[in-house]
Amino acid sequence: MSASTEPSCVLVPFDHVKADIILRSSDDVDFRVFKLFLSLASPFFETLFDLPQPSDEMSTDVEFKDGLPVVPVSEDSKTLDPLLRFCYPCTLSEDPVLEDFRDIVNVFEAAKKYSLDAIESTVCKSLFNPKILEANSLRCFAIACRARMQNECVLAAKYALQEPLVPTWFEEIELVTASEFLSLLTYHKKCGDAIQVLKDNDSWITAEYRQWNAAPWMCGYNSNGNYCGCTRSASGRFTLNGHASVQWWETFMDSTFADLRDKPCAETIRKNVEKAIQIVHQRNCNSCSSTAPAGMREFATLFTSKVEELITKVELDMKF
Ligand SMILES: [Zn+2]
Repeated sequence: MSASTEPSCVLVPFDHVKADIILRSSDDVDFRVFKLFLSLASPFFETLFDLPQPSDEMSTDVEFKDGLPVVPVSEDSKTLDPLLRFCYPCTLSEDPVLEDFRDIVNVFEAAKKYSLDAIESTVCKSLFNPKILEANSLRCFAIACRARMQNECVLAAKYALQEPLVPTWFEEIELVTASEFLSLLTYHKKCGDAIQVLKDNDSWITAEYRQWNAAPWMCGYNSNGNYCGCTRSASGRFTLNGHASVQWWETFMDSTFADLRDKPCAETIRKNVEKAIQIVHQRNCNSCSSTAPAGMREFATLFTSKVEELITKVELDMKF
């Protein structure tokens, strides 16, 4: 057999001379493993290995290598390696660190297939780090539902507030039941609604900026207290000590609250603040251009904390 077709060997501990079976991955990598470790971790393997084992290389279709039966599996080596490491005692192999969404899902699916229940939940927990959640919140939610992990569902639902209320299709959507998905949509909608109280009652702003000169840019004043010339709100809906806000700020607030219905999260505020700062620069008002950017970013921190306070009170109505 040429070197190119010979199944590759793997690293410690799957090269052990005393191993009693070989698992061959779909990409032709041989893992020499101990049946005992796999049987202890999984009833699937326990049953498989309890079946009469071929002992004579001549009397069976089973392939043998170095006197050990070779069991082909459908997982590739990238999936099989971490899965087996999870099965092994920590004295022989540390639990692998999984960082890529697709890799984690593949190991998770394999753990499910082989009834590795404890490993399934350990693997699932690897998904719930902020980096993966930021980019894959809905997919993580679906997997947490499938694994029936309550706390992880709640966490993923919170990250999913960064997605539109009606999201686009995602690969793992089939894992979610209609009622679980309805719970997610209801939670998202409730969060969007809960925030609107900040629009109707602006005491959270006036409590922070007690005098108009705490945020002069909001009311169209420069730092000397002179009117900057920007158009003031015609509605006069919001005032600081009787000073109406400028129109650009009122427009910013209206568009932010509208966007927060769809995506009730900090990122919506951040984006709208940056957009407002750009608009201020385009207006060529020297006063607003110099004071509004820092003031608005500081305001974003206040706004975000109020939004998060309200969202924390909303519950995802889903129990397993
Ligand atoms: Zn101005």
